[in-house]
Amino acid sequence: MKKELEILNEIEQAEEKIKSSWDKLSYIANYNHKKVLQAFIDNNIGTHHLEGTTGYGFNDLGRETLEKLVSQIFKSEASLVRPHFASGTHTISCVLFGILRPGDELLSVVGKPYDTLEEVIGVRGKGYGSLADWGISYKVLPLTYDNTVDYDKLPDFINKKTKLVLIQRSRGYDLRPSVNIKEIKKIIQYVKQIKSDTICFVDNCYGEFCETEEPIEVGADIIAGSFIKNFGGGITPQGGYITGKSELVFKAGNRLYTPGMGAKVGATLGFNRAAFLGIFLAPHVVEEALKGAILASYIFEKRGYKVSPRWDEYRTDIVQAICLNNPELVKKFCWSIQKSSPIDSYLQPIPEKIDGYNDKVIMAGGTFTEGSSIELSADGPLREPYAVYLQAGISYRYLRIALIKVLKNLYE
Ligand SMILES: *Cc1c(COP(=O)(O)O)cnc(C)c1O
Repeated sequence: MKKELEILNEIEQAEEKIKSSWDKLSYIANYNHKKVLQAFIDNNIGTHHLEGTTGYGFNDLGRETLEKLVSQIFKSEASLVRPHFASGTHTISCVLFGILRPGDELLSVVGKPYDTLEEVIGVRGKGYGSLADWGISYKVLPLTYDNTVDYDKLPDFINKKTKLVLIQRSRGYDLRPSVNIKEIKKIIQYVKQIKSDTICFVDNCYGEFCETEEPIEVGADIIAGSFIKNFGGGITPQGGYITGKSELVFKAGNRLYTPGMGAKVGATLGFNRAAFLGIFLAPHVVEEALKGAILASYIFEKRGYKVSPRWDEYRTDIVQAICLNNPELVKKFCWSIQKSSPIDSYLQPIPEKIDGYNDKVIMAGGTFTEGSSIELSADGPLREPYAVYLQAGISYRYLRIALIKVLKNLYE
C-alpha cells in the first residue's frame, strides 16, 4: 500500500511537470477536431451515410462519401477507405503491388521498413509472391550514425529504375526517431529534385492527427494507414485507408479488388458507421494516447532508462519506446499492461514467433478489437536493446492506472 502511494505521488509530480507538453497537444487536438468536424459538415453527412451495402457493394453512398470525407481531411485527390484491408501491412502492400511493375525499384529512405514489410518486399522468407518474386528490386538507404536521413548519399541510391520511395513516418520496432512532417517535406523535396517523377509514398501508421499537417500537404503522392491504430479512434473494428493522387489510388484499388471493377465494388455491411465515428473521435483519442506516452516517457527517464522520444520532444506518432535493457523487464512490463486490460486480463502474453516478424515478439493488449494497438498496448521484439514500445491508450486515465501496476510489478 505504501508503495502504491509512493508511485501515485511520483505520477502526480510528473503530471505537474509535463503540463507544458500537454498544452501543446491540446492545441493540435483542437485544430484536428475542427478540421474533421468541418469535413463532416462540408460533406453533408447524414444518417443515410451510416448504412452499408451487401453483395457486390455497387453504389455504396456511405462508402463513397466516407472516401470524400477522408480526402478532405488529408487534402488529397482521392481515397480508398475500406474494411477489406486486413491490416496495415496489407494496405501498404496494395500500394506497392498496385504501383510497382517488373524492372522497377523500390527505395526505403529511412533505413529498414517495418518488420512485416520485409516478407512483402522479399528480403526475408521464401519470397513467393513477394515484390522480389515479381522482379521488383529494392534498396535501403541506411541512416547516418546519428539516425537521420543520409541526404549526402541519397543521390547514389536513386537511379532511372527508382519508381517509388518509401518513407515510414513512425519508428516501427526501431530506436530511430520517427520522421516528422517537416522532415518528410525535406525528404520529398530532395527526392523530387534528384528524379522528379519518383513517387513518394508515406507509411502513415501511428502518425495520424499527431501534428496539424499530414504528409499529402507537404508533397507526398500517396499515403496509407490502419483503422486499428490512430485513424479508427479505437472504435472502427477493421480496415485501412489509402489516399493521394487519383491515378495512384486507382491502381491500388485494382490491386485490392480486380481490374475492371477496381474500387467500385466492396460491400461495407456495418463498416461505414464505425468508420465515420472512429475518424470523428480519432483526434481526441490520439491526444489521450500522446498524454499517456509523455507521462511514461517522463517517469521512465527519471528512473534512469533511455526513452525515445523524451517527454518534451516534438512528436509525430504515438509510439513511446522505453529501453529496459533486459528481456525479463520487457516481459514484466507487458504482463502488467495485460493484467490492467478490460479484456483478457487473465491471460499472460509470452514471446512468440508471429507471422510476418523475424524475432520473437511479445505483445500485450487486452483490447475490444483484436490487435488494436490504439486501445493500449505494449509490445516489442525480444532483441537488443530490449525496448518496449508503448502505444498509450484510448483514455489517459486507463494508461495511468495501468502504469501504476507496471511500476509496482517491475522489480518484483
Ligand atoms: C503497425 C505498422 C505497420 C503494419 O501494420 P499492421 O496492421 O501491424 O500490419 C506498418 N508500418 C508501421 C510504421 C506500423 O507501425
